[in-house]
Amino acid sequence: MRNYEDTYRHKGLRKKLIDILKEKGITDSKVLSAMNSIPRHFFLDSALDEIAYEDRAFSIDEGQTISQPYTVAYQTQLLQIKPNDKILEIGTGSIYQATVLAEMGAKVFTIERQKKLFDNTKDFILKSNYTNLKFFYGDGFEGLPTYAPFDKILITAAAPFIPPKLIEQLKIGGKMIIPLDEEQHQRMLRITKNDDGSSSEEAFENFSFVPMLSGRNSKA
Ligand code: SAH
Repeated sequence: MRNYEDTYRHKGLRKKLIDILKEKGITDSKVLSAMNSIPRHFFLDSALDEIAYEDRAFSIDEGQTISQPYTVAYQTQLLQIKPNDKILEIGTGSIYQATVLAEMGAKVFTIERQKKLFDNTKDFILKSNYTNLKFFYGDGFEGLPTYAPFDKILITAAAPFIPPKLIEQLKIGGKMIIPLDEEQHQRMLRITKNDDGSSSEEAFENFSFVPMLSGRNSKA
């Protein structure tokens, strides 16, 4: 069950969440304004309606999670999105992160390996608002060669290594944000593809994500 009413109370809670994100160091006003305009409770069961605007992750179907708002804001800020950027997201999950990217004017291609979560995207309530958002059922390690190259790639699950096919599908000058597995946590990296095809890395904070798994799970 979902509650698709966006009341003044929801809007007020959302504004408070945005203030928390600012306090935690998110400065990109385009990221903050996109998150201020998207009703996060639309992406969660109505039982979570009251707490949807807390800065925390929640469980969704198939043992997966909707990322914590701070994590969404952090990854999005690192992507340095420009309107019309062509972006590949790995791990559609609840569709919240993909919606933030689409709200910022990017052309978004998002892949999910869990059939059930992919099937849920067919009923996405905000679909007609975001014609720049496209859903795919597939394995993120393979990327989307048909639609490559991308300006940006965003991985929203804990990657065991930097997927070589995703580097191939990045434009020269393009950037990929990837939470790369270390022992107890993931280190957020920004990888830039250089003119000569090599790539350079910048390291940021540690986070905790569900694992990026290979192959598709066809359980509907
Ligand atoms: N971006 C999501 C976060 C979901 S959690 C959101 O905003 O809600 C990470 C998601 O990545 C899970 O749904 C998981 O099933 C998916 N995932 C993990 N490995 C994947 C892979 N190889 N390809 C595509 N999706 C993958």
